[in-house]
Order: sequence, then C-alpha cells, then structure tokens
Amino acid sequence: MTPDPMNRLVAQLAKLPGIGEKTAQRLAFHLLRAPKGYAQELSAALLDVVDKVKLCQRCFSLTEGELCGFCLDPRRDERSLCVVEGVADQMAVERTREFKGRYHVLHGVLSPLEGVGPEQLRIKELLARLGDGQVEEIILATNPDVEGEATALYLMRLLKPMGLRTTRLAQGLPMGGDLEFADQATLARALAARRDL
Ligand SMILES: [Zn+2]
Repeated sequence: MTPDPMNRLVAQLAKLPGIGEKTAQRLAFHLLRAPKGYAQELSAALLDVVDKVKLCQRCFSLTEGELCGFCLDPRRDERSLCVVEGVADQMAVERTREFKGRYHVLHGVLSPLEGVGPEQLRIKELLARLGDGQVEEIILATNPDVEGEATALYLMRLLKPMGLRTTRLAQGLPMGGDLEFADQATLARALAARRDL
C-alpha cells in the first residue's frame, strides 16, 4: 500500500492539465528521489507565485504590482494594441520582437459549448481602455482555430464602428494551431503581413 502523503501528492499532481494518474505517479516518485532541497524550492516557488503574482489592472497580463512591465514601459507605442487569448500567447508575440505596442489579455475565447460568453472574458475592460482615444489599431491575435476566429469576429464587430483599424494576423499560421507553439519566424511574418478586417 502506498503511504498517505504519497497518495495526496499524486492526487494533487493529477489535477494539473495534461497530467493523468500515471504521469502524476511518475512525477511523485521523481520528487521523492530528488534531493530534498528541490522539493523545498518547488513548494516555495509555488507559494510565491500564488501569493505574489496577480493580473495587471490594465492589460491583465501577469505582474507583481498594480501594472505590468508592458504597461509601464514608456517606450511602447500606445497607438497599437495586440489582443491575445492568454499570457502564453502574449509571450509568443513578444518573442518575435516585431511588436512594440501594448497588449490586452482576454483570458480565454468565446465558447458557447463551454459556457464562455463575452462577460467571462476581459472584453468590457478592453472597451474601457479605448475610451481615451489613444489606440488607433487593434491587432486581433487570437488563435487561428474556430473559437479564436469567432472571438476575433465578435471583437471586430464591436470595434469597427468605433472607427478603429482592426487587423488580424495573416494566414500562414497552421490552422487550428496555437500561437503559443508557432515558431518565431512564422509568427513574425504573420504579424508583419497582418490584414485589415
Ligand atoms: Zn499590463
């Protein structure tokens, strides 16, 4: 019989996305065999993230303060706003080094089947940001899959009447693919060749 602390760890690990019972067990045994310092570092890092990292009040990226580094950086262009599904997508766009504007993280996509409507995303906050008239172009950089396209279309219909230039990443990203996993060169090309909606 497996000791209780081990079962507890396996049960917690198995709750992580993409981790099944088998993988959870393997990770638990790995942690058990690793030097004790590693487990201490890992648990401290976990608690630190939960305690200290929060969402930026403007763009909803991650930050330790009220506003994130992207929002605070005076060198970034206020006129251009890149809308992404999640923080991982934002990091992917950032890695291309092609985009020098600001970001807005939706934290999801419209998905009627999963009960995700506009009010579950940071859309209200996006519209509120546009009030000061500084933004001229909005790049809708949601993923090139069904839900990402539907979300971009929904946003385009809201933004166009406001007189904003709305653009979408060029084709060339693998359909159904995830920005997060696109290679830098492909994503940079898609960004440079973005098309008006
Ligand atoms: Zn921010």
